[in-house]
This record gives sequence, C-alpha cells and structure tokens, in this order.
Amino acid sequence: MASDTAATDAGRDFIRDIIQSDLDAGRVQGLVTRFPPEPNGYLHIGHAKSICLNFGVAEEFGGRCHLRFDDTNPAKEEQAFIDAIMRDVRWLGFDWGVHLYHASDYFEQLYDWAVHLIRTGCAYVDDLPVDEMRAMRGTLTEPGRDSPYRNRSVDENLDLFARMRAGEFPNGARVLRAKIDMAAGNMNLRDPVLYRILHTEHPRTGTAWCIYPNYDFAHGQSDAIEHVTHSLCTLEFEDHRPLYDWFLDNLPVPSRPRQYEFARLNIAYTVLSKRTLTELVRQQKVRGWDDPRMPTIAGLRRRGVPPEALREFVRKIGMARAASVVDIALFDFTVREHLNASAQRRMAVLRPLKLVIENYPEGQTEALTAINHPDKPEAGTREVTFGREIYVEREDFMEVPAKGFFRLSPGREVRLRYAYLVTCRSVVKDAAGEVVELRCTYDPETRGGNAPDGRKVKATLHWVATADAVPAEIRLINHLFTRPDPGADGDIMADLNPESLEVLSGAVVESDLLGEVINRKSARLEPETYQFERQGYFRMDPDSTGEKLVFNRTVGLRDTWAKVAASGG
Ligand code: ATP
Ligand code: MG
Repeated sequence: MASDTAATDAGRDFIRDIIQSDLDAGRVQGLVTRFPPEPNGYLHIGHAKSICLNFGVAEEFGGRCHLRFDDTNPAKEEQAFIDAIMRDVRWLGFDWGVHLYHASDYFEQLYDWAVHLIRTGCAYVDDLPVDEMRAMRGTLTEPGRDSPYRNRSVDENLDLFARMRAGEFPNGARVLRAKIDMAAGNMNLRDPVLYRILHTEHPRTGTAWCIYPNYDFAHGQSDAIEHVTHSLCTLEFEDHRPLYDWFLDNLPVPSRPRQYEFARLNIAYTVLSKRTLTELVRQQKVRGWDDPRMPTIAGLRRRGVPPEALREFVRKIGMARAASVVDIALFDFTVREHLNASAQRRMAVLRPLKLVIENYPEGQTEALTAINHPDKPEAGTREVTFGREIYVEREDFMEVPAKGFFRLSPGREVRLRYAYLVTCRSVVKDAAGEVVELRCTYDPETRGGNAPDGRKVKATLHWVATADAVPAEIRLINHLFTRPDPGADGDIMADLNPESLEVLSGAVVESDLLGEVINRKSARLEPETYQFERQGYFRMDPDSTGEKLVFNRTVGLRDTWAKVAASGG
C-alpha cells in the first residue's frame, strides 16, 4: 500500500515532526488522521497532496486514517461524487479500511450539541434576514453589532430551534447562531451561523432533516467524535481554529483534536478550485470531470499518469507551511521520469507518410523482434510485423534537408528501428505538389538494423507496417489555460487555451496495442501507459473501439524541467 512514500518521508517536514514529538511525549496514544472531502465535485491534484499526507503519516506512524465525507450541504452534494472520491483515493493507493464516515452520521449528535449550546446560553435563534445579518457583522476594522434577537430566553430559543427542525419555517427564515462576541477581532467569532434551514433532500439522510449544520460546526466536532488526534488542513482554515477550539471548550466532546495547517498546492497554468472546475464541466468547456486536460485525479488517470508518479510528485513538493506556486514542468518531469523507467515501448506513427520498399518482395511480411524496455530485460520482447509498405512519420522526411537534418531525404540512408537500413530513392507527389509517398530500397543484409560492413547512419526512425497498422486517434493534451495565473485579470474562462486539445485523427499504431482493447473489454485490467518511441507517453482512452483506438498523450518526451532547474529558475 503506497509503501514507496512511507520510509523515505518519515520525519522530514514540520507536520511529521509535530506528530513524532506528540507520540514521543505521550500527548496522544496512537495517531488518527482523516481526509475530509466535501462530495461536491471530483478530487483534484491538490486533494492528492492532502490524501498523501493524511494516509501517508498514518502508515508511517502506525496510526489510522479515516475517510470522512463532509456532507453538510445537500444542495451541492451527490452520491456520484462520493463514489468517484472513493475510487480515486483507492486508485492513489490508500485504504481507509472500516473507517468510512460521513458528517451526516453525526447529525443527531450535532443537533444535541446545538441544543446544549442553547441551554448553556451559548447559542440563539436569529430572525434577521441574511443581508441585515451581513451588514451588522462589521468589518476587519469595525466591530459588528448585536442582533436584536441575541438575548432571547433559553426557552424561546429551544422552542424555535425545535420548530426549525420540525419544518415549520421556510428556507432562510431563521438560523441558529453561536453567541460569542460581535466585537471579536477574528470575524469567525462574531456569532457564526451554526444551523440553517434547507428544505432539501440529503443523499444519505433523505428527508429526515430540513436544517443542516454549517461546515464549521460539523467539522471539528466530527473530528472529536472520531477521536482524530491531528486535524491536518490547509491554511485558509487557520483563522477558523479559534472557533473550532471554542466549540471544543463549550461542548462535552469525547476527545480533543488539534488542528495544524499546511500550504495549499497551487500549480502554474492550472486551476485547483472545485468551483471553477465545476463551471468548466457545467459549461462544457471540457468533456467531463475526467477529461484528460482536467487536473482532477480522474482526469490524470485517464491521461495516463500512474498513481506512483502522483505520489512521487507530492513527495517532491514537500509539506511547506508557506504558500507557493509549483511549476507545472516539475509535474511533467516527475511523470516522465517515472514512465521512462516503467513504461513499455511501442511504435506509433502520429502523422503517417507511406514508404514503399521497391526491392522487398510483394506480399511478403516478416516478424521482427522488438524490445519492450531498453533497461528492463524482464519486460521481454514482442514481435512486430515488417513488410514492403510501411508508414513513417511525415516530419522524418525533408525533400530538401535543412542543415543538421539527418533523417530521410532523397538519396539518404537511415535505419528503421529493429528492421533494416533503407535508402530513399524518389518521391511521389499529389496534384498539389505535396509528397504523398516515399520510394525506397532496403539492404537485406542489415536485418536487425546493423550493416555487416560497419557503415553508419545518423538516424533511426520508428515505423508501422501497413499490414500491421491499426487506425488511431491521438489526442495531444496541452495546458488548459494560457497563462500561469489563470483568472488573474478577472475572467478565468477568457484564459482557457483554445489549443488545449489537439486531435490527430489519421495516426496508426502497431497491432500489439489491440491487446489493450481486449483487456478493457474483459474489465480486468486498466489500460497501461506506453512510451511511443520518439513521441512521448500515451494511454488508451475509453473512447476507443475495435475499429479505432484512441490515445491520450500523458506527457511528451522533451524535458524542460531539467533545464529550468539547472539555470536556477
Ligand atoms: P476547493 O477549494 O477546490 O473547493 P475544498 O478545500 O473546498 O477545495 P474539500 O473537499 O473541502 O475541498 O477538501 C478536502 C481536503 O482537501 C481539505 O482538507 C482541504 O484542505 C484539502 N485540499 C483541498 N484543496 C487542496 C489543495 N489545493 N492543496 C492541498 N490540500 C487541499
Ligand atoms: Mg472545503
């Protein structure tokens, strides 16, 4: 289970240091963490950071990590999101075992605690309309003002709150507020709302409730109920900590979690806000939550990013407390590095140009041996079919070669990978003057790609024989946004990259890749990510059919990060 992150990470960041010292000093008996997503969208790569942290430390320190759905807003939450989140956490390599919880499991307990606050004079029912309540909240420099309903009697509050629960009032008519301090410097302590009326069915509790606790009232108490020892969350909740502590101080909770904040993950050219991601899906700017251009875990999976690479990325960026923006090239680099070591090689021609070998016997084909991974003999070999007609990459030919271009051009000899040396003799053009076919000869003495006389060629090309070619659509995935800080000018949709998806519909791949379709049909195996030689890393998309395979480019071969890092950028 995700053991690659375990040993290497221990004790290397401030959170792990805190946990270690809490355990050493006996302040906690065993570590309990939780990952608490709100099921109002799919998980993204920022959540991956939180998942790796919470589940990771639990593994490292012999504790446990709960998966808890913070399902307190039925207006935005769906069962489909719950299912997707569970699938994604598992896919990342983590397991909550029996510790699957929902804030909604605690609705009755939370209600009782709200009643407790009313009884102790710590909460009241407020009838102010929302806008007035907001106006009276004050500002960072001015204190707020007390609601005229703030000093209702305990009995009146108990009665009204019970009737809120019973469904006597419409949405928005009343709320329950904590009675703390309208002049508090921390705005979160200015009598925050604990419960609101919402006549909406809940995915889990159905119509049992028409009042729902606010996130702030549910979150810390849920941690306390679950005996979470370390509530790890992102920095925007730092200002909420005094409120969470106030609840813990004023309620008979069974345990006392401590909250620690770490920096959110931000990545250049990427948006990690569920609200924006929801808009992209809703406005059909992408094909869905799992569109390979999306920074969602489902999108990254569909694009071909292995879970190990995602975990490695999270390990690389570390667990700083200060907010920062991570260069997207670091992500690409990490994925490429992982796939270079792990992905099997195949041949695909993205923009095919036909090449005919005039001296190769008509109708003949032969099987050649190709290696699946240059550094991993255990990955074995496979047979690729060679014949008189093959496809090569259009950009591997230049009729008039530019300086430094050593690939195919008239009179030039090159190597076809795993096959033979071929020499271009002439070209065939269409009416528009475009080269549509290369006429070549091959040297039968060079089977496997080496000349017995030791003569050298300067280029080795990948290819696919027409007899072996399976039509394919290749989807090149580019950044979804055109600028590193999408939305900085106010309109995030205006920063969408119109070229985020480039479709090459006339590609061909070697027939060995048909095995991926068979695997998928049998539903036993997820498609693998392959390196298409000289082109990058690709994974079959579920849009594939028996007639046409569809592949997404996970990441290209070219590494810009090494250069960036070397120049200190
Ligand atoms: P968003 O702001 O995208 O809507 P959220 O924080 O509202 O995200 P939740 O479902 O509440 O989404 O998040 C679950 C957990 O994931 C929280 O503990 C949150 O702190 C953490 N998390 C969310 N976004 C990031 C991020 N970009 N980096 C690190 N952790 C994150
Ligand atoms: Mg949230």
